[in-house]
Amino acid sequence: MSVLINKKRCDNADACSCIEGCPTKAFYWDPEKETIAVDNNLCINCRNCMISCEAGAVKVARDEEEYQKIKTEYDEDIMTVEELFQDRYGATLIAEKYALDLVDLKDVVENSNKILLVEFYNEEEAKCLINSIPVKEIIDSISYPVSYRKVNISDIRDLKEYEIKELPALLIIENGKVIYKWEQFVNINEKEILLKNIKETVNFVK
Ligand code: SF4
Ligand code: SF4
Repeated sequence: MSVLINKKRCDNADACSCIEGCPTKAFYWDPEKETIAVDNNLCINCRNCMISCEAGAVKVARDEEEYQKIKTEYDEDIMTVEELFQDRYGATLIAEKYALDLVDLKDVVENSNKILLVEFYNEEEAKCLINSIPVKEIIDSISYPVSYRKVNISDIRDLKEYEIKELPALLIIENGKVIYKWEQFVNINEKEILLKNIKETVNFVK
């Protein structure tokens, strides 16, 4: 009996619902390898993990034949990360063409004569990848030329100079100065507040 995890579909979350629901602790988080894992010696084949994984990334094989079948199915799974996000979160990844690193961002901030909209996100966090900040609506709400950039941040301490404590985060920068800052996921109720604040702030400084 074996539990198989489809690593192409699994987002490797340490808060995995399969770990929570496993009665024997066979499903566990391996801190050394930083991955979810299964100890098949502890598994009692209850199939809780298979049911609780919302991504359909876990299957339990009853015998060797089924094990081989599932293994082949995983090997041949051609789902891309983009499709995975569409499938799981109903959203698309942020377009690559706006990407910058922190060093290039400094250059852009120093030399831009437009209002800069800078989004900081972590590409490993789902809440950042699902476009939680309504960038297009923000740009539409500002009646001045705006330049949008996004910066992937794996360690939030790199953003000390901007005093950002949570991702995703948004900065509006004008003439090298931060004129507006928003931190964290934007839920539907906060969106209108965010758009109104930004509109008022930008119109005030212009
Ligand atoms: S719930 Fe499923 S997709 Fe999420 S970490 Fe666990 S096994 Fe992976
Ligand atoms: S089948 Fe049951 S015991 Fe085995 S890993 Fe899944 S939840 Fe744990």
